[in-house]
Amino acid sequence: MSLQSRVKRMLFDEPDPKKIMRGIGFILLKTALTPAGKFDLRAAKRFSLILYNHARRFFKYPQKAVFTSLFAPVELVHAFGLCPFSLEMLAGIAASMDLAPELLAGTEKEWLSTDFCSFHRAYIEIARIGLLPAPVFVLATAHTCDGTYKSFSEVSSLMSRPLIFLDTPYHSDRVAVDYLTEQLKNAAEQIEKVTKTTLDREKLERAFFFSNRARSALLEINEIRQNERPLLFGEDSLPFLTIWGSLLGHREGAALFERYRDELKRRSEEGWSQIKGKKRVLWLHLKPFFPNRLLRYIEQELGAVIVAEEINSVYWDELDIRSPWESLALKIMRNYWVGGIEKRLDNIRRTIESHHIDGVIHFSHWGCRQSNGGVRLIRDTVTEYGIPFLNLDGDCVDERSYSEAQYLTRLEGFMELLER
Ligand code: SF4
Repeated sequence: MSLQSRVKRMLFDEPDPKKIMRGIGFILLKTALTPAGKFDLRAAKRFSLILYNHARRFFKYPQKAVFTSLFAPVELVHAFGLCPFSLEMLAGIAASMDLAPELLAGTEKEWLSTDFCSFHRAYIEIARIGLLPAPVFVLATAHTCDGTYKSFSEVSSLMSRPLIFLDTPYHSDRVAVDYLTEQLKNAAEQIEKVTKTTLDREKLERAFFFSNRARSALLEINEIRQNERPLLFGEDSLPFLTIWGSLLGHREGAALFERYRDELKRRSEEGWSQIKGKKRVLWLHLKPFFPNRLLRYIEQELGAVIVAEEINSVYWDELDIRSPWESLALKIMRNYWVGGIEKRLDNIRRTIESHHIDGVIHFSHWGCRQSNGGVRLIRDTVTEYGIPFLNLDGDCVDERSYSEAQYLTRLEGFMELLER
């Protein structure tokens, strides 16, 4: 029986938070301990170990655990010495452990619509069947999707823990900045009440310091990847969202991005040329997290390489401790998912130009109105550059309707267009 099957059996036979921790631990450690291939960076091994440690802290000390949404200001959580874990990320990890089909089938029995994003459905089910320790509180922002408030409210009520919610405004004018700034101040006060502690200014400053270091290293990574020779597979950089989703503001997040940056710099200086892909691809939105060979097929068999991912864009300015709440508010509001689609399109344009992109792939995750609703405008923007655009419909978490052969055929067609 495979490791995945054993973990799966262990979890569903008798749901227990300790078991899911052990399951995540097995998977991450297995990755960390597998010998590095010729393409791997040492940082990637470190990545698995850091994630393992983070997950271990989260499960071992539930009195410090906080559930967050992907774009929540986790710096604030770290400033209180707590341990944030993004629920969307947890759904992705469950998918990678091949657990999603059972979880989603469970939500269907509870009449949750299959139209609803499977990230949300999977983590609601994880909370419902008790695979998670009850956190201190739940922290979410209204972006990127309308479903977040509803789903996080459900998790907060299932676990009887308070929800601290930031209502991200649609517009970015002065009134909106003040509105969110005030909410962040209130959120800090709510956390003080829930944890019966006082926010230490020095700890907040420290969290900002690490967040800024991580930001600056990620910016450099993105710049190094403009290099004519691809230095990293997109399959290895797409999971960066796990780092910035939970570890912005933590020493380990900063150190990890710096390690990636240094190794990539070295590769660049040494003229490293092991990745042979000729065509440069920009990947939009997310990827399927369950075991599949989509990205590997593109990057190791078809001869194209993902040199940039929308999800890893650095869209925010440095945090400024002199005006902490406004600074965090601006970080949230600069997100290209907040407001009209123009911001997202501008970001796509900038990346196509800076990374010399030959073609763009958008993965349209089932049920994600935020991303899929803009596909026509994205396609029009991409075709302004005279380069091909491929929209792949699918699901990032639910593998039940995944048909690999169909995807591979579409990717082959896309590759032909790239080579014309
Ligand atoms: S995939 Fe879309 S709907 Fe699902 S959590 Fe992300 S933004 Fe929200």
